[in-house]
Amino acid sequence: PSIDLKPAPIDFSKYLSKESTGRKRSQLKELRPYFEIPGMISFGVGIPHPSTWPVNGMTLSIPFAEKSVFIPGYGSRSTSDMLPVEPFSEPLKDEPLRPDLSSELQYSATYGTPHLLSWIKEHVQRIHSPQYDEWVNLCTAGNTDGVDGIMRAVFDRGDYMLVEEFAYPGLLSPAATLGIRTLGVPLDAEGVNPVAMDEILSNWNEEERGGPRPKMIVIVPTCSNPAGVTIPAHRKREIYAVCRKWDLLICEDDPYCFLQIRPNGADSPIVPSFLSLDTDGRVVRVDSFSKIVAPGSRLGFITGHKELVEKIMNTRESATQCPSGFSIAAISAILRAWGSHEGFEKKYIPYISDIYAKRCLSMIDLLNKYVPSSTIEIPAPAGGMFLWVRLKIESHPSFVNSSTSDPETISKEVFASMIEEKVLMAPSEFFKAPSLAKWTREEEAKRIYVRISFSLPPPEEMEEGAKRMGKALAKQWGVEQ
Ligand code: PMP
Ligand code: PLP
Repeated sequence: PSIDLKPAPIDFSKYLSKESTGRKRSQLKELRPYFEIPGMISFGVGIPHPSTWPVNGMTLSIPFAEKSVFIPGYGSRSTSDMLPVEPFSEPLKDEPLRPDLSSELQYSATYGTPHLLSWIKEHVQRIHSPQYDEWVNLCTAGNTDGVDGIMRAVFDRGDYMLVEEFAYPGLLSPAATLGIRTLGVPLDAEGVNPVAMDEILSNWNEEERGGPRPKMIVIVPTCSNPAGVTIPAHRKREIYAVCRKWDLLICEDDPYCFLQIRPNGADSPIVPSFLSLDTDGRVVRVDSFSKIVAPGSRLGFITGHKELVEKIMNTRESATQCPSGFSIAAISAILRAWGSHEGFEKKYIPYISDIYAKRCLSMIDLLNKYVPSSTIEIPAPAGGMFLWVRLKIESHPSFVNSSTSDPETISKEVFASMIEEKVLMAPSEFFKAPSLAKWTREEEAKRIYVRISFSLPPPEEMEEGAKRMGKALAKQWGVEQ
């Protein structure tokens, strides 16, 4: 029989799995069309500036090629900005951190390459000193990959998972795809509110909720995305106690860990992590090189109890197998060039966190200078990439003059007027997790924010962006600028 080769339209929907049909993308992707408007100043996306990546280029040595190939890094960096990297040296046979393409580019043990794993283990010991013995590490392709593995290892479709009231959309959408029902725990200035969390769990009615109590809470404990909060140690202990009481695991997604502003300067220790407080093995910690080296490196690591981590490893083994060997080799070489742990902790981390601290403080100064204080409430600086700025909807004319206008609708009006002025930021609506909380209209009006990401725009754009925000809000609130 002859085959008609004319293209026939295919209805792909009948081929697609429930997983791919039900897959939701992160709400933040909706900002992209605005981002592309010429002249837009964007505080919308939380991505690092390429000048922060600690690599000035890469040289590949290739057999049969006439010359080695140089891959340039970020172009306009002046040589004075370059990091104090030690001169090239061949690793000795017995050096602990010894990148070697003959092993990195080979299929490797799924927990990770031994020399990098041993660096990671020592790092975790130095920074978090876990209080129990049965902890292990697993290398991942970054925190998105790590959290995906954790969710697949822990949850069935229909299970509940607690998240922060305003949560990272890159967590909410994959959870929804996996059929996990998320519930937001109210936040205050110190992060997840343990009293509110305990209330949700105490009042849990299995019949009403259609399922048992949540098994795990996911928390971004440092410079959180979006709320920019670093949870202080005393608050972490309170949250941990509630997790113990109700037997919850804690997934500590901490990519901004080293970007925090430390209360007593760069030499003082970081705020203790959940992992460091954990005595039971109920914390599974997720670290990433995305914000301290570069997002495209796709390398990170999980720390947790060996029984749970083994199950997570099994999910990765059938997906990515392990992170890219090129990446493992490159990052091992970078860590080694810094002088291993000492250099990483004492030279590099202060350098990179200082960049973000300066940007954070300068963004706050600019908001104070250009945006009327009757329209916004600016939080204390925490570092990281985000400022979570509250819009004072309670004094917005539409709220005051009409008892029916709803705060989210007013927030959309404010967003539209900022777009008109060509300044872009992410509205709190994008981050809102499903919630059991019942807020009055007045309370709702005090829970509207914008996430300003100060990591990317150059200084002159930061200033112009703040001016534009000030202009839009002054107009919206009908106040003098
Ligand atoms: N894309 C991906 C895959 C990310 O992980 C991030 C960092 N969170 C971003 C984009 C930019 O951040 P956000 O989506 O939070 O604006
Ligand atoms: N988790 C949070 C809270 C984030 O903000 C981000 C990105 O910024 C990620 C995970 C993704 O990190 P990675 O690039 O390691 O997948």
